[in-house]
Amino acid sequence: MPGFDISSLVEFTPPASRCWLCLALLPPGMASSTKRFRCPGCNSFYVPSNITVFSNTISTTPEVGSVLVGGSGTILSWPPVYGSAVVQPVVGRKISIGAEPMAHAVDLAELAVQLREASGENPPLRVLMKLLLASRSFIHITSFNFDEFTLALLEMAAQGTSIAATFSGVDPKRMGVLGQVPAEAPSLECRVEGTRADTGDQNHGKLIVIDGLLAVIGSPNLTRPAWRKAAMNMEIVEVVTNISRVAELNNRYFSPLWKRLQPAPETRYSILNWTIVTPEDPEHPDQQKGAAQEAPMKEEIEPSSGLDSPGEPPDVPA
Ligand SMILES: [Zn+2]
Repeated sequence: MPGFDISSLVEFTPPASRCWLCLALLPPGMASSTKRFRCPGCNSFYVPSNITVFSNTISTTPEVGSVLVGGSGTILSWPPVYGSAVVQPVVGRKISIGAEPMAHAVDLAELAVQLREASGENPPLRVLMKLLLASRSFIHITSFNFDEFTLALLEMAAQGTSIAATFSGVDPKRMGVLGQVPAEAPSLECRVEGTRADTGDQNHGKLIVIDGLLAVIGSPNLTRPAWRKAAMNMEIVEVVTNISRVAELNNRYFSPLWKRLQPAPETRYSILNWTIVTPEDPEHPDQQKGAAQEAPMKEEIEPSSGLDSPGEPPDVPA
């Protein structure tokens, strides 16, 4: 058995942020990017504006601040401003897993081992509950159906973390129970793809991502009977602890679904100093592929951004 190399610890880089729209886990290069890039989850283009933000207060509503026009573009500031610290906020939703990310990773790793070696003392459902409670930042879920027991687990866990869940093939009788969720658990957002009564194709993948550090995949639906069957080896439960693989699973199986189920979607968003151009926007490069070559670009997208160059790789490698 190979020995444990402590130098591998310095390579531990927990994910820093998620896409505003699809909650894809952005690789470090994108999370700290100052150049345009393509989201690995929803294919939206993040295009930076030339606005520089001077403040050590991060706000999502810069409109409320005073706007000063400086030599190198527009400078936004809003009170209170303490000195002239330059904030380099991460792109997307920041992931905060606490002061000691390594200690948190060790806690999750111990639960991963318990799930792999599920025993009478630690049946899979117990470890699942411990995992939900261990989350410090977010949980992403795709599930076929749910039951009131597991919904209660999610509502309870969402008092201490933020949960985004998609449900497909929902029992029509259970749809009503989701109506109270926003009041009871404001940090739990559920998006429903369809019910069992719908005839179209629906997602059947089962995925639970904890803080971008651990993923649970396999066959059980998010119901108590299914997770009890897992204790009898009648369901397959696998736990993924390779961070790159966790991001891959999240961005491939959760993010496109999450974005697709967004209520009242727009084709373009302005968030802080970024414009997010979704694949549905007529000026997104994927739309331009089939469009006439001379299709003009609007001014708000920088001509140098390359958005009109189909197939050109983004500035930031994935
Ligand atoms: Zn995205």
